[in-house]
Amino acid sequence: MIGANILKIKEQIPASVQLIAVSKTKPVEAVQAAYDAGHRAFGENKVQELVSKYEALPKDIEWHLIGHLQTNKVKYIAPFVHLIHSVDSLKLLETIDKEGRKNNRIVSCLLQFDVTNEETKFGFTPHEGIALLNSDAFKALSFVRICGIMGMASNTQDESKIALEFAQLHDCFNQVKTILNEQGKDADCMIRSYGMSGDYQLAIKQQSNMVRVGSAIFGSR
Ligand SMILES: *Cc1c(COP(=O)(O)O)cnc(C)c1O
Repeated sequence: MIGANILKIKEQIPASVQLIAVSKTKPVEAVQAAYDAGHRAFGENKVQELVSKYEALPKDIEWHLIGHLQTNKVKYIAPFVHLIHSVDSLKLLETIDKEGRKNNRIVSCLLQFDVTNEETKFGFTPHEGIALLNSDAFKALSFVRICGIMGMASNTQDESKIALEFAQLHDCFNQVKTILNEQGKDADCMIRSYGMSGDYQLAIKQQSNMVRVGSAIFGSR
């Protein structure tokens, strides 16, 4: 079932869009089933769960941290995490840089933007994200790599509202890319991580190239 779901979604999306299978709350057996179907990129929203699955499962899996990250937990994932999607403060980015340095490893990150007015969502406003990239504190970091942006649409059935928010996220990406280009740091900035089970098709129409899909693969939580 899990393997078939993955293959079906991969058939539906362009080859240029990367599928992150969101395995949060699901057992290692579920991840293993997706792995056996050939999938290698998984997302978790909690550090402890990500670390225990990392330890239990094959080492060629790419682990993506997609949920809110506390600074005191960065050290547990810095040695191996493939991409941190949820960078939402300078303090967090500085901590990731520090832990990257300790591990002699440049850690790939996305800046999380919040274009909704929902209080439940983390992330920078467009203005805040741009200010961060222009700050001297950011320019001093050398063990983080900004690979793009991540975001979510509002929890609504209104497809035109969702499409508008995804378009705003794409606009954030363009602004991030432009600023990094001015600093000579944009070579790896190409990821637009938005779209989940309910809205990944809409997201791809608005130029997402990384979708994070959980329940459509693993079933409801
Ligand atoms: C849970 C989660 C997803 C996947 O949600 P589904 O609706 O199950 O596809 C994607 N992104 C983040 C940040 C999540 O926490």
